[in-house]
Amino acid sequence: LEQMSSLFDRMNMVGSMAATVAHEIRNPLTTVRGYLQVLGRKEKYQNDKEKFTLMTEEIDRANSIIKEYLSLSREKLINLKICPLNHIIQSLFPLVQADAISSKVDVVLELSNISDLLLDENEIRQLLLNLSRNAIEAMTNGGKLTIRTFQQKTDIVLSISDQGTGIPSHILDKLGTPFITTKDTGTGLGLPICYQIAHRHNATIKIDTGHTGTTFFVYFNSETS
Ligand code: ADP
Ligand code: MG
Repeated sequence: LEQMSSLFDRMNMVGSMAATVAHEIRNPLTTVRGYLQVLGRKEKYQNDKEKFTLMTEEIDRANSIIKEYLSLSREKLINLKICPLNHIIQSLFPLVQADAISSKVDVVLELSNISDLLLDENEIRQLLLNLSRNAIEAMTNGGKLTIRTFQQKTDIVLSISDQGTGIPSHILDKLGTPFITTKDTGTGLGLPICYQIAHRHNATIKIDTGHTGTTFFVYFNSETS
């Protein structure tokens, strides 16, 4: 437990620092992006159109990394409302599917009749997206991504399963610590954000992983939430 709380302390520290730095970097990036768009339309740069597109895309990439950092910020207020988890999943389905299609991944929803929960809809969307992206990225040869909801005793469980490579054992006990990544362009922030979101919802995350795939379980207590 001590280890856990120091992990959250560390994450919160990273979060506060990140929020400050991210805000400071975002503004100049926005200015540069704006001028790139103006210049890119000029006659004399018409032969360099791809370069302008590339520069804008790179700025967008930087911005999305910053956005990930910002979601770790502790100052963010949680906005809990009673809502149906299944609806959030369904509304996110097209977005997840768009991600999945280019990776030859089929997305399957298996949603049970569950009671409503106290949730921050935006945070749950983020959690679903982060876990789904990891699942898709783990299936380098395609496969099936299954998102389930079901009741288990007093818990309502959300699970995201893939048929991917499994989580390498050398990082398994470090998961949730910021910046742990095995990907060339990974940020190592997706899971820390998920753990923080779960923590803020009084939910716990459990993992089942092996060479035939990985399942992330998120346990929401239906009695307290
Ligand atoms: P990132 O995706 O940017 O690398 P994350 O925090 O989302 O950062 O994930 C950290 C690491 O955990 C990943 O780099 C990967 O090695 C591992 N991981 C997470 N989810 C899965 C999964 N579903 N299957 C296999 N490995 C995973
Ligand atoms: Mg990720």
